[in-house]
Amino acid sequence: MSGEPERIFFPRLKRQDSYPVKSDGTFYVYAHYREHIAIDCQHRCVYCDAHADEVGGAEAMQLDHFRPESFDEFLLLINDPRNLHYACGRCNLWKSDWWPARGTDATHNGRDGFIDPFAEDRLEYFEVALNGEIRALQPPAGYIVRLLRLDREFLRKLRYLRLLRSLWRKKVADLRERIAKGDMPNAEELDQTLAAIKALLE
Ligand SMILES: [Zn+2]
Repeated sequence: MSGEPERIFFPRLKRQDSYPVKSDGTFYVYAHYREHIAIDCQHRCVYCDAHADEVGGAEAMQLDHFRPESFDEFLLLINDPRNLHYACGRCNLWKSDWWPARGTDATHNGRDGFIDPFAEDRLEYFEVALNGEIRALQPPAGYIVRLLRLDREFLRKLRYLRLLRSLWRKKVADLRERIAKGDMPNAEELDQTLAAIKALLE
């Protein structure tokens, strides 16, 4: 375990060291890597950060060709799992084959484009407010928010619920710990915990 506390949003992602290949050393057809990529991406859409379970399960998730396969220069990457990202159907649809950094090796042009979640820490680009709103901290985050509508209400609520759940877990854990030590919570403290649970259910 690293010393970093568990992240609620945009976890750091790491690729597996290698992916299975055919006996001739070439990659299988890209769909073969679906489960590998799901694990690499912690079963979350790399763009909106929705977990598969939050948007209808694994069948709602797709494999995104990060560098779009529709461009000649990326055609060789079509089956390369290192170019595959887990994405929800919405984000994959809206990302389509947009690639503003075309003609360079970069993933964005300093203003528009995308962030490689395996190479960079997305929390340096995005911030989530307590009400679940997402904020762009630096380019190309603003472009991504606009293109993929990351500020839509469904996602705001989803992020807000995650924050509430996390708060609720912490409150319950704190109460348990205190009770175990014989430090009984008073009525006001219990009311606060119940209010947190109530907010979660609304
Ligand atoms: Zn998404």
